[in-house]
Amino acid sequence: MRRKRDAKIIGTLGPASNDRETILKLFDAGIDVFRLNFSHGTHADHARTHAIIRDVEKQRGRPIGIMADLQGPKLRVGKFANGKEMLVVGQQFTLDQDPTPGDATRAPLMHPEIFAALTVGANLLVNDGKICLKVLEFTADSALTEVTVGGEISGNKGVNVPDLVLPISPLTEKDRADLTYALSLGVDWIAMSFVQRPEDMVELRSLVGNKAAIMAKLEKPSAIEFLSEIVQLSDGVMVARGDLGVEMPQETVPVVQKKILRRARQEGKPVVVATQMLESMITSPVPTRAETSDVATAVYDGADAVMLSAETAAGSFPVEAATAMNRIIIEVERDPYYRKSIDASMPTPGDTVADAISSSLHHIATVMPLAATFTYTESGFSSFRAARERPEAPVIGCTPNVETARRLTMVWGVHPVIHQVMNSIDDMVSHAINITLEEGFGEMGEIIAITAGMPFGRTGTTNMLRLTRLKELPDFVDPKDVV
Ligand code: PGA
Ligand code: MN
Repeated sequence: MRRKRDAKIIGTLGPASNDRETILKLFDAGIDVFRLNFSHGTHADHARTHAIIRDVEKQRGRPIGIMADLQGPKLRVGKFANGKEMLVVGQQFTLDQDPTPGDATRAPLMHPEIFAALTVGANLLVNDGKICLKVLEFTADSALTEVTVGGEISGNKGVNVPDLVLPISPLTEKDRADLTYALSLGVDWIAMSFVQRPEDMVELRSLVGNKAAIMAKLEKPSAIEFLSEIVQLSDGVMVARGDLGVEMPQETVPVVQKKILRRARQEGKPVVVATQMLESMITSPVPTRAETSDVATAVYDGADAVMLSAETAAGSFPVEAATAMNRIIIEVERDPYYRKSIDASMPTPGDTVADAISSSLHHIATVMPLAATFTYTESGFSSFRAARERPEAPVIGCTPNVETARRLTMVWGVHPVIHQVMNSIDDMVSHAINITLEEGFGEMGEIIAITAGMPFGRTGTTNMLRLTRLKELPDFVDPKDVV
């Protein structure tokens, strides 16, 4: 089974979709990676969902990616004595660390780290940015603010502090417990929310090791400031437009999105565009024209993956949303202008042997069309580098490691295949020809490229490029060596 497109689809699972039948339908409709959102649900819920996905993987004989998304430091205002209050522009309002329920003049904000980082003039945004409070003066446990955007304020609403870099790790106690649990399940990607600084990714990497790939969710202005470093320290990044659009003026989000896409593409790191992509499909079986256009734009701009959140987790039409996304991607990728614009933004090769080989493949493809490029890889590195070149023919990521194959489900254009340990180049050529014919990547007479590292079984050794014409059936390695 192969997908007829290069950009990937991530679908978030939740009450609307975490049953076996729906997960199977979502996979068939085009979801490549399932996201477990640790902001919701219990560990037992996630364990059950995880087991179902692995079961569907076995049933379909295709590697499926699973991403655990850690909630991060979600800040919240405390409770109100009357449940809610009305704040009017120009009035003063105090936030403090007194747990007594709030009233029309003050409210509890039980986050000492905010007070530690406050500055005069900083903006505190409450309830998805609907209310804005500007800091006039502050002490270690209280801040006097002026209401600059008014409205109804109520208990437990989220607080965003775009102007502040908080002196905290983005990993709360809950995140640490969730992380340990997610790794014990065997997820493939860990996404971290509210990354502020490069050190945050260093810390996450030290906790995750090589048990999973790590993704930085870019939703803080300070993460955009350190964009290059964060991209370099991550295995992938996400344009997390939900919180990004609260932390930064809405109209800057498309600009920042394009900037992140360019940066990630340059570094060869998978980049995900997320949130509100087909938002109206939470309640409607068809998307709006604007939503369709938004997904298309992300694909034109070279995103590795587009993501569905509430559409698949909590909406009434999860399968329809996946189907719509699949169709939009296929349509964009059919447009000759798409290929032109992808080629026009080709990043310069890095000075690695893998890049030298990947970029020569590009040249080879202009001389003789390739049916597919097979990257034999332990860690997945050469498949990542090949995908960075956005070749026209599919990249087959062949690996003996099931973990590598699952991570590769996130990457543009990569079709992961799990094989048994190879002993010779002949084995590899037979395997590649076999997969090409079996899965319909090419026909007799066509040419495939094979890249690999010698000696086998070691990471970081990519050093070989072989071109093979599909002319006779070789002795087959069993093609069913999957999952
Ligand atoms: P969230 O992240 O859905 O976990 O908040 C995505 C976003 O903020 O866009
Ligand atoms: Mn978010």
